[in-house]
Order: sequence, then C-alpha cells, then structure tokens
Amino acid sequence: MALAFDEFGRPFILIKQQDEKSRLRGLDAQKANISAGKAVSRILRTSLGPKGMDKMLQSPDGDITITNDGATILEQMDVDNQIAKLMVELSQSQDYEIGDGTTGVVVLAGALLEHAEHLLERGIHPIRVAEGYEMASRIAVDHLDHIAQKYEFDLNNIEPLVQTCMTTLNSKIVNRCKRSLAEIAVKAVLAVADLERKDVNLDLIKVEGKVGAKLEDTELIYGITVDKEMSHPQMPKQIEDAKIAILTCPFEPPKPKTKHKVDIDSVEKFQTLRLQEQKYFDDMVQKCKVADYEDVGATLVICQWGFDDEANHLLMNRNLPAVRWVGGVELELIAIATGGRIVPRFQELTPEKLGKAGLVREKAFGTTKDRMLYIEHCANSRAVTIFIRGGNKMMIEETKRSIHDALCVARNLIRNNSIVYGGGSAEISCSVAVEAAADKYPGVEQYAIRAFADALDCIPMALAENSGLQPIETLSAVKSQQIKENNPYFGIDCNDIGTNDMREQNVFETLIGKQQQILLATQVVKMILKIDDVISPTDY
Ligand code: ADP
Repeated sequence: MALAFDEFGRPFILIKQQDEKSRLRGLDAQKANISAGKAVSRILRTSLGPKGMDKMLQSPDGDITITNDGATILEQMDVDNQIAKLMVELSQSQDYEIGDGTTGVVVLAGALLEHAEHLLERGIHPIRVAEGYEMASRIAVDHLDHIAQKYEFDLNNIEPLVQTCMTTLNSKIVNRCKRSLAEIAVKAVLAVADLERKDVNLDLIKVEGKVGAKLEDTELIYGITVDKEMSHPQMPKQIEDAKIAILTCPFEPPKPKTKHKVDIDSVEKFQTLRLQEQKYFDDMVQKCKVADYEDVGATLVICQWGFDDEANHLLMNRNLPAVRWVGGVELELIAIATGGRIVPRFQELTPEKLGKAGLVREKAFGTTKDRMLYIEHCANSRAVTIFIRGGNKMMIEETKRSIHDALCVARNLIRNNSIVYGGGSAEISCSVAVEAAADKYPGVEQYAIRAFADALDCIPMALAENSGLQPIETLSAVKSQQIKENNPYFGIDCNDIGTNDMREQNVFETLIGKQQQILLATQVVKMILKIDDVISPTDY
C-alpha cells in the first residue's frame, strides 16, 4: 500500500495488486507442483491391489464413507491445491472413460512425477523430460498391443467375462461375494448389450440398494423395482401378463359429503347417497378393467394419488389390484419401461395406453413389513435392475461403487475383447521394453525414457508392498523371471497362491483400460512439468 496525492493535493491510497500475490518461478514452481502431486498419489498408493487398504472419509455433516475406490477417495477429499485437483480429475477421467483402474492411474502419475524431480535436479530441462515421457508412453502403449491377447467369449460361455469382473472385485471390500456379484454384473451387461454394434448402454442398468439381509442376497431383476406395495394386503401378490393403467388422477368415489353441502335428513337418503357413491366408483373400476367395453382391460392400477379405505376395500372386492402413492419419477420410469402412457384424466383411459409387463410381483423382506414391487419382463425395454442387499448403508454404497467398476469392465470387454494380464505383469513387461528402447535414443530424452521405465515399476512394487512382500526383492525376482523365460505374464503373487503366472491366477485387465492409464498419467505429468510460473493470491 502507498499514499499518493492527485493534482489537487487530495490524498488517495494505492493498493498494488502484485503485492497480494505470491509467485513461484522456475525450478521452485516445478518442485512445489511435483510435491503436491506426489502427496495425493502417496495417499492412494496403499489402496492399490487385492490387499490394498481402505480409507475412511468423513463428510462435514458426519456421513462416513469407507472405500477402496481411487476416484471416490479423491472426490471426497476436498483438496485445495490446484495441482492436487488435477490429480483428482485424472482419477475421475479414468473413471469416466474406463470405470476401473482409478487408483493405478494416480499411483503411476505420482511415480512419474517423482522420477521427473530427480531429472530436474540433475539439470535436465522440463521440456526434455516431458518429451521423453511422451516417447516412452508411446512405446509402452505399443508394447501393450503386442502382449495383449484376444479374450473369446459368447453368450453361451460367459465364464471369461465373469473371471475378468472378479479380478476387479478382488481388491474391494465386497470380495467375499466376488463370484456372485461378477455373475450378476455380466448378466446385467449382456441383458442390455447390443452385441452387433458392440455397444452397451449402462444407463439401462439401474443399481438400487436396500439395507437389510446379506450381501449374498443381492439379485438381478430383469425389469425395475418400485419401493411400494399393493394397497390392500389381500390383493394378489403376483400378476402375470400384467396390463397396467398408470393414473395421475384420483381414483376414488366422489365425496359430496365433505366437499359440498348436502342435506340428509333421513336414513333412506343417506343410503341412496352411499349407494350412488359406490356405483360411481364401481363404474370407474369397471371402466378400468373392461376399458371401453372391449376385451382388453387393466389388471393392475398404479396411481399417483391415494385412495381411501372404502375405495381400497372396493378395489379388492372387485378384483382390481392397485398400488397407491407412487411418486412422479417412479411413475415415469414405469411408463417408459412398460411402454404405457401416463393418464391424467380418467375418461382418457384406453386399451392402447396400458403398460405391459410379463410379471409384476410384490416381494416381502424378512420380518420387517418392508415390501417392494418388482415389475419384470417389461414390454418395451431391456432395462434391468441390480438390487443390492447389505448390513448397512455404507456397505451398500461401497457395493454400488464396486458393481459399477465390474459393469464397466464387462462393457469394455464387449467393446474390445483384448486383455492384458494384471498383478503388475503388464507394467513390468512395458518397463523392460521401454528400458531397452531408451538406449536407442541419442538425446537427453533417453534419461527421461529410462525414468519412465522405472516409474512403471512402481505399480508392481506397490502391489508387493501392500501384500506384505519385500518390494524390491519381489520385483527383481519377477522381472528377471520375465526376461529369462521371455514371458510377459509373470506378475506379483499378491494372494500367495504359489504361482507368479497371472494367466494361471486368472488376473486380467482390459487392454484399453491399461493403455488409458498410461496415456492419461503421462498427459497430466507433462502438463504439470510445463508449468514454470505459479501466481496465486496470498492468504491473509
Ligand atoms: P484400481 O482402482 O486402479 O483398479 P485396485 O485397488 O482395484 O485399483 O487394484 C488393481 C490392481 O490390482 C491391478 O493392477 C490388478 O492387476 C491388481 N490385482 C487385482 N487382483 C489381483 C490378484 N489376485 N493378484 C495380483 N494382482 C491383482
């Protein structure tokens, strides 16, 4: 701040904007950025792999999340630093594009940053490092193409797909039920997949959860679920070939007694009024059931409004099952799935407007009076629902995230059925290939390429470390085994099964997922290395 005077001698204060900013330049800027990136990656490192640790995160309002999923951990971490935010976005883009490998990509980026720091200290210009990394990433991605295998599966043999999903679920809290969850995920994906176009619309798979029962009770429903029950306990619990009237108007007798002034001075008058009300409602029911007096009528009414006990009783007597108080969103979902139309006025109900479903059933859960409606084999849509059960909300949320990963892996395999082997074997193989290629480059970049090879080793090292093995010893043993036997499938035996061959252990990852990890991590690291001036406001 400075005091100055204008031409009339009046004082004014000058505030220099520059004074309010702090500025880091050159190597200092790069080092500060690198250490921020490394800090984020260090947090995730211990979560990598089947024996990785979980993180518990508490939100400002006290909600607790326990998870192993990299993208979720970072999303909930509320980071302030801009570079740290870049790492968070890195994990999210992997999640968005591929859906799995969100931890691995951040660990790899952290390792690349760490090795870049050593090179910068030795006086190599950041641009040379960035270029070297770019060349190395291309070599690694090409090498992955080279060692990838085609994974054959068809609708009659879904076992390969199930195995791949199981690898993903291995490292999650839910790995106790990995087999059944993997099967559910694969069946769900195949139910909505368009195998000819090799495309899967994951929006058609709804993942719902309800607290209670065991994880083992998680099931796949070929249709949708609605958290409602039949309006009367004696109505049928199961309706086959249901024709559903979806109403947004009230479905009950008119109530002149409460809405208008009616003078009733004798029992007979009251009786007549009552009978008239009943007849009016009977007509409504009749119209529903035998719509327009043709032979196609509704066998189920789903209504946005409620109906009183009398109407409910009448509906039960006239054999027209009904569901009341269904929310607008659910109503729309039912309409889309069953191909029905939402009818806002009772008079407009026609046979074409009815939705159709192969089976509508009400399911009760245990001793609680909790019931849900399953609308299955819907006419119009292939939508499926994965209905997760579990002891508490945290477990259900984590299962949802794990199932999402498994669904993405199955989808990726349908899009492109090339796979590479996991357990760090692909990274070790790439590291050997990149290292060998480094010697051929005459320029300074060869140091960066070599550093890239070393960074790739961090993934198997982290896997070994998290499994309680000696990282350096284990890595060197596996690497020499790969080179000696010329076999790129040796990885880290995290579960102590007794073989390093990841083909025997059935540990796969999709080729596109692994390539994306390498490409995304390299992009972000290059971006961080190219920043040489950080101007930020100082905190007061
Ligand atoms: P991400 O979020 O990156 O998928 P995970 O915690 O799921 O991270 O760990 C994935 C890593 O664990 C991959 O490198 C995968 O190859 C490895 N992995 C998974 N299951 C096994 C296993 N049974 N043995 C060895 N490595 C495994």
